[in-house]
Amino acid sequence: MKSPLARKTIREMSGYTPGEQPPAGARVVKLNTNENPFPPSEKVMRAIREITPDALRRYPDPLANAFRAVAARVHGVQPEMIIAGNGSDDILTIATRTFIPLGGTLAFPEPTYSLYPVLARLQDAKFAAVDWEKDWSLPIDALLATKASAIYLANPNAPSGTFVPPVNVAELAEKFAGLLLVDEAYADFAEGNCMSLVSRFSNVIVSRTMSKAYSLAGLRFGYAVAQEQVIAEMMKVKDSYNCDAISIVAATAALEDRAYAAKTWDYVRSERERVTAELKKLRFAVLPSQANFVLATCPDGDGRHIYQSLKDRGILARYFDLPGLRDKLRITIGMREDNDALLAAIKSIADQTQRSQASRK
Ligand code: PMP
Repeated sequence: MKSPLARKTIREMSGYTPGEQPPAGARVVKLNTNENPFPPSEKVMRAIREITPDALRRYPDPLANAFRAVAARVHGVQPEMIIAGNGSDDILTIATRTFIPLGGTLAFPEPTYSLYPVLARLQDAKFAAVDWEKDWSLPIDALLATKASAIYLANPNAPSGTFVPPVNVAELAEKFAGLLLVDEAYADFAEGNCMSLVSRFSNVIVSRTMSKAYSLAGLRFGYAVAQEQVIAEMMKVKDSYNCDAISIVAATAALEDRAYAAKTWDYVRSERERVTAELKKLRFAVLPSQANFVLATCPDGDGRHIYQSLKDRGILARYFDLPGLRDKLRITIGMREDNDALLAAIKSIADQTQRSQASRK
């Protein structure tokens, strides 16, 4: 039974459903939550080992200034233009609370990251899900027509992996009076990004995460870059100590060792192209992806069946029981041997289906 004590909005909504996390040590090929297949940089592990008891006894730096200094250098902006968060989900929550008034509207192209409508509901705001254009280009006019307070754009998008060129994002920023948040969780795997729009437009926020590109999904660290006055408002909304002392040290070391991470991006990109080609040979339709995953349409149109058959073989991919996605699987790009295990399993599932169809004839 639902607790009558909860706010009506909360009682009536369902929360966000994260991807499955098998217990530690489980023998699965995990290609379902877009983690980086490589471990974090050894410099990150060393920085964590060197944390002193005193650093844990005391509260952390509320602004994560050590991290902001490095991020400012990496992105060529001022540290005051950066806010750190407990994962980029925290950044998205802070942005929603800061910029979307009660009863306001959050717009986004759909399908996209399924957290966005949840955030709108939590804020007692409405959301406007606008279909992507047929070729997955940005539906600029339809987004503007929603008269939203804010637009969230995942770029590259999840779960499609498709990428909107920064010139089109700039056009939207120019025409839109509200806040445009470009969620760049996967930008390091892409051919471009929208970071340069921040200095041009006072209504643009770019959010990034250490979860994927820097192999730190378990750590929980993300950040946003925007003009100083935008960040200053978000600072009022965040929890005082939203990033813990360990995560600040580790995320700083990770960004300092960008060269290590960049090698993992190259590997993932090259495996992404190989997996895409192999899936096409197995009669899947695969969207051109700029992220560390691909969205593949199953030849028989039954995503759930392949998802379940893969799971029975110890391979996790992501299936979304949502309109427009039920014939598809989102597959994270893993190490070569994991990708090969997935491809072999898909082939064996197809062979099995063919055999059982033949025996029924
Ligand atoms: N944005 C997008 C588009 C995502 O897919 C995810 C991962 N689920 C996030 C943000 C959040 O990532 P994190 O909170 O780990 O930074």
